[in-house]
Amino acid sequence: MHDDSPQRAYVIESLGRYWPAGGGPVRDLPIRQVAPPELEHLPPQGVSVALPPWAEDTGVPGGLWVPAHAVAAGDEPEWTRTDWLRAAFWYLSGAAERAHEEINGPIHSYALRLRGWDERFRQRAWVNRIGLFLRRWASKEAQIGEEQLFGPLPEAEIVLTHDVDAVARTAAIRCKQTAFHAFNALRHLAGFRVGQAVGKARQALRFFFTSGDYWRFDDIMRLEESCGLRSHFNFYGGAGQGRSLGQMLIDPGYCVGEPHLKAKIRELHAGGWTIGLHPSHGAWADPEQIKVERLRLEDALGAPVTSCRQHWLRFSWEHTWAAQEAAGLRLDTSLGYNDTPGFRNGSALRFRPWSGKCGGPMAIEALPMVFMDSHVYDYGEGRGGTFKRSLDVEQGQPNTADRGTQAGPMFAFWLDEVRAVRGTATVIWHQRVLSKDYGWGEGFRALLDYIEKPRGVEQVF
Ligand SMILES: [Zn+2]
Repeated sequence: MHDDSPQRAYVIESLGRYWPAGGGPVRDLPIRQVAPPELEHLPPQGVSVALPPWAEDTGVPGGLWVPAHAVAAGDEPEWTRTDWLRAAFWYLSGAAERAHEEINGPIHSYALRLRGWDERFRQRAWVNRIGLFLRRWASKEAQIGEEQLFGPLPEAEIVLTHDVDAVARTAAIRCKQTAFHAFNALRHLAGFRVGQAVGKARQALRFFFTSGDYWRFDDIMRLEESCGLRSHFNFYGGAGQGRSLGQMLIDPGYCVGEPHLKAKIRELHAGGWTIGLHPSHGAWADPEQIKVERLRLEDALGAPVTSCRQHWLRFSWEHTWAAQEAAGLRLDTSLGYNDTPGFRNGSALRFRPWSGKCGGPMAIEALPMVFMDSHVYDYGEGRGGTFKRSLDVEQGQPNTADRGTQAGPMFAFWLDEVRAVRGTATVIWHQRVLSKDYGWGEGFRALLDYIEKPRGVEQVF
């Protein structure tokens, strides 16, 4: 059966990295078509579809996790009753989250606001795995080797990024971080974890009364240079003055026009690092504001700025990409969660977001963020499972190598998945956290080590 509906063609195009020689054989596959439900059921229900023996390695043990409504009823093997292209479209377009946003407003990237949602939806790069499965299936149908039919598989690419939220420890940062530690101390106290509560309280006090060096550019450049890597920095383009109290508390306090900082931004750029915009907290639906900030950063840099990630991952499916696009940006890396690692739209792909309004892909591209430093250090505790392990890297401890090694397995789960599916995604290590205040430098070194030397990830494809 040949189907060329815009959504199906969009999925095949978005997965183009898996068929460099063209997606024709995938278009021609006899993929079952299942009509979508009239209304998206929330929270979404999933089902694991077992794959045939010749494609088992493209799934995870148990198969591929897809929305239950993409599988038709019947007695034939489940994989033949699954509308793979619609399932992939559902993930890629964020259909369930968009429906949630329509009812409740944006979650601004806090997964905990998606109450009762099955975590399995975000645990793997399912869209990529669907691509790999379809590649295998088409080659079986054609009785031609995959490489011969489609060309080689792509290399995985993990894109390292640094959001620059602070370059000095301002009064606003002192208050904010002290409050955060104090809150955690109270939480521990309420749970009768007195030792941990005292550790947190001590940390809160230390944070408030000591000074910290948040200018870590040179460390980062040196470390990255030593492994031949160049990352990506996102800078805030708002003005340092004339802002409300709320903005001063929430947005970065620096101005890219300050001579010292401006010189460093240009030095980074000249050395091969790329520079993007970190739009302010309030700008997530405001093209004019994003544009003003982009122009201010361009002025400091002396070169065009085309990529961005929203500060605090303030993000709305309906408004943010549209605002960025209208502000002249070409790539966004905001698609991820603040409070947990994961594949927010089931993909590790650079793709053009689907626009419901015009019924086609937008001009701007998106590259998901699957993991960041604070997932381990700020949010890991108390979340159970894999998260818990890392977060007992309790604060109050000195900056030890232990932290790095404990953080290692945490990001490895997510980045191993990017590698296994030969996908691409971004990770964040904030610039300031290499300071003594945070002591997350060892984790960063472990991350560099991971990126530099794949630690024997099983390459099944
Ligand atoms: Zn930020």
